[in-house]
Amino acid sequence: MAAFLFSFSALAGEPSELCDGTAKCHVLAGTVTGDQPRLADLVADIVMILDSPELKWVHTRDRPPATVSLKLAEFLRTCFDKVMKLKNFVVHQCLAAAPPDEEPKIVEHPIPWPPERESLMREYLQKHTGDGSTYLKNPTTIVTHWTGTNNLDETIKGFERTRLEGRPELAAAGLVNVSCHFIVDRDGTIYRMMPDDRTGRHAVGMNRNALCIENIGGPTHPLTKEQLRSNELLIESLVARHPTIDNVIGHSEYRNFENTYIFSERTGYRSDRDAEPGRAFLAQLRLRLFERGERIKAAGRCNL
Ligand SMILES: [Zn+2]
Repeated sequence: MAAFLFSFSALAGEPSELCDGTAKCHVLAGTVTGDQPRLADLVADIVMILDSPELKWVHTRDRPPATVSLKLAEFLRTCFDKVMKLKNFVVHQCLAAAPPDEEPKIVEHPIPWPPERESLMREYLQKHTGDGSTYLKNPTTIVTHWTGTNNLDETIKGFERTRLEGRPELAAAGLVNVSCHFIVDRDGTIYRMMPDDRTGRHAVGMNRNALCIENIGGPTHPLTKEQLRSNELLIESLVARHPTIDNVIGHSEYRNFENTYIFSERTGYRSDRDAEPGRAFLAQLRLRLFERGERIKAAGRCNL
């Protein structure tokens, strides 16, 4: 673990020169592993500092500040704005410390994965991420979606095909059909479509690092209370199983991650996603996950 220092001329101002540990300046201090800190660690530190009434010397986690490599300083300088935006997406770190009170009930409904689909998927990943492996290791993110339709059977049938059909805007980027780990029906029933150690095709740039939750619904059929509860339990159980998960986002928010280490897309391919899966739904989901994290912390099960 290396400590870093970074100075800012004002609370929300432009980053200024590096602080040498003696000058009077505003300092952010924290701990990172190597030159690419986990986003959650970085954001947790910054949030803590920005939330404090007095922005002076701040030492987080009882570590004294120390000097930092120029490379890391440069990295922090360039990612500060990004981090400020991304902090909205970070899940409470205590969520990883305990499984949900109630394990979500999951119905197994694997989508067919014949050799042709495997090889098309490999081709897609090679072209878009530079890595053809179809295994998902250490996921960092959960992407929540809505299907845009109100019909479970139609959605499942759509995912079962090997090749994309009737979606020319997506087919240009690759012929393998879209895929997703989970679907949540309007009554809250959760279907597992593929194992969570396999890579799906569901969000540009995020597939290499993200798990996918589709929800049956759309702008004319906002997601239900039952879906909210199932997403909450499912996410809690996924974060407890994969402590590397830092972020929960809506598909509509994926472009905020461009130019971060979480985003992996080598081509200029992007797709527009307006409101997926609905602002109110996302706000409620985040609030519930945050409150759950706070409860775990209050119970002394997490020493954040
Ligand atoms: Zn989507």
